Amino acid sequence: MKLFFSTALATLLLLMSGCVAQQTTQLTTTAILADAAVSPAPAVTPSRQVVKKSAERSESEAATSRWVIRSGRIKKTFSQTAQRAGIPNLQIRKLEALFGEQIDFRRDIQKGDHFTAVFQPGKSGSLRGGKLLAAELNSRREPIRVIRHTNRRGISRFYSGSGEPLGTDFLRNPLKNVKVSSHFTLRRFHPVLKVYRPHRGTDFAARKGTPVMATADGVVQKREYQNGYGKVVFLEHSGGRYTTVYAHLSRFARGIKPGRAVHQGQIIGYVGSTGLATGSHLHYEFREDGEYKDAMKVALPRIKKPTTAERKYFYQATADLRRILLSEQRERRIAMASGGSQSRR
Ligand SMILES: [Zn+2]
Repeated sequence: MKLFFSTALATLLLLMSGCVAQQTTQLTTTAILADAAVSPAPAVTPSRQVVKKSAERSESEAATSRWVIRSGRIKKTFSQTAQRAGIPNLQIRKLEALFGEQIDFRRDIQKGDHFTAVFQPGKSGSLRGGKLLAAELNSRREPIRVIRHTNRRGISRFYSGSGEPLGTDFLRNPLKNVKVSSHFTLRRFHPVLKVYRPHRGTDFAARKGTPVMATADGVVQKREYQNGYGKVVFLEHSGGRYTTVYAHLSRFARGIKPGRAVHQGQIIGYVGSTGLATGSHLHYEFREDGEYKDAMKVALPRIKKPTTAERKYFYQATADLRRILLSEQRERRIAMASGGSQSRR
């Protein structure tokens, strides 16, 4: 009897650690119960029902909820598997960037790793125009998560599973599609002035009228016409520590006035060729503590760590999304366990 118990215990431990392949059906059920017991979900018993649920899940959920879930097991690369799961390229790139902040894709991802992504579909029902809400990557390590959250100031961004904001305070580029036509350099032959002088900004070639975005939350410092810059907007960020400059605009966006707050991604003006410019382009500058920096290369400031209260709010506000990820993870493990037992018969 004692031997039986220790054998059963050892088997159960093996099962819980993922070594499912060599166990019997009866023990698989035990594993499911053990699995369910650690989480707040109702106890799951017959494995038949569980398998059915996972097979029909995607259809019924897409129809009845505002969430669409896409998942897959990585065969070769993450992007390839994500594509097969029906995730549009645009969203795949976003996922890669967000996961990429937490792991090294080339080194850490392995064949057999699993991911889940939760989307809110766009108006047409497509994921391309939809919003990524949450995602999880299950590798051999701790699950890596990405969760969209709107903080109490109304700013939405992505966070890690533990509530650390991902990304930087600044967008790298003030235009959506960028084509750098002239880099930051300390010596350049000026095309209009015909003299050598430093170019302390980055020029982006773009058609007249292309919207220009604020690269970070900030306050409008200047909005005026200057001889060289033409129509120019100066934004102050982080209480004046950083300044960004957007020059040669054809016009300013409505509401852009000194003292006004702008948020990251807000359109502040439109590309033009006012001031000393040969053609239509945006001249963009990034200054840190008054010093000119190469906006394309500068290490962009990290977002401040959230306070305890902010983190608490994060956990409250994202409870639903985290629950979805957890239940997906659980169902997958159950499906794996029962699938494994069936295939051996
Ligand atoms: Zn320039």
